Amino acid sequence: MKTETTIHGLAASLQSARSAKKIIGFVPTMGNLHEGHLSLVREAKKICDVVVVSIFVNPTQFGPNEDFENYPRTWEQDSQLLVDVGCDIIFAPSVEQMYVKQPVVTRIQVTGITDILCGASRPGHFDGVALVVTKLFNIVQPHYAFFGQKDFQQVAVVKQFVQDLNLNVEVIASPTIRAEDGLALSSRNGYLNAQERAIAPNIYQSLLQAAQALQAGTALAEVLHGIKEHLKRVGFSIDYVEAFTPDLTPIQSTDTDVVLFVAAKLGTTRLIDNLHVKLITA
Ligand code: AMP
Repeated sequence: MKTETTIHGLAASLQSARSAKKIIGFVPTMGNLHEGHLSLVREAKKICDVVVVSIFVNPTQFGPNEDFENYPRTWEQDSQLLVDVGCDIIFAPSVEQMYVKQPVVTRIQVTGITDILCGASRPGHFDGVALVVTKLFNIVQPHYAFFGQKDFQQVAVVKQFVQDLNLNVEVIASPTIRAEDGLALSSRNGYLNAQERAIAPNIYQSLLQAAQALQAGTALAEVLHGIKEHLKRVGFSIDYVEAFTPDLTPIQSTDTDVVLFVAAKLGTTRLIDNLHVKLITA
């Protein structure tokens, strides 16, 4: 496995693969890798000849009071995990390499679907994501790029600007990988103390209960209220508990595909999760 820290170095490393018409797969990450990230690399390995994983904690997607400085940076551990999973190239640029001139004045902004959920509670977050992913796509020029459904809205944003900007990459979304107790794996889980970690699986448990209630015919508003009350009772402060269609449009009474979304805080740690529920109609 090679590690490249510059755009030129990466281009040189990929040159022979490109001229041999090899299929290039790309997994963008912010590092502190866990099974969720590794599952994306494994998916990439299935259909690509060369897999590039980027590790870049992107400052433009963090708000001023968010955890950019404290975000876990675990280089040694990450590179060992990537060797083990068969990654071919790590791209780990510095902030200066990615953003030559700061402040950055160019925006890639997806409107509409970023007005809700994390877009509403983290202003500018998806502009930062769209900018860095566009830059990374231009730098890596992959055939396929792999993202996790855990960040459901992020996948929708990426698919939208890929289509709108005619970017020559196919975006593939993979299921959320969870701990045994159901907690969606996340680099931010490491912020939780033992007591918070014990409470955290309530998010997924409440989503599963909600799915059952919806399938049994309980009204959506009541189900969402039930999740909120449950999570508050066990110690969360709620950011949002909402439902949208898989296209992130409001639910109509005839919709049978519902995605439930939760963002909630335990102490200062913000956790997100979602569950796609298919309603069986009579
Ligand atoms: P991050 O390092 O948090 O930016 O995540 C990099 C990629 O890994 C994104 O596409 C995430 O959606 C994905 N990812 C993070 N956690 C999980 C998980 N638990 N299951 C599946 N994919 C994940």
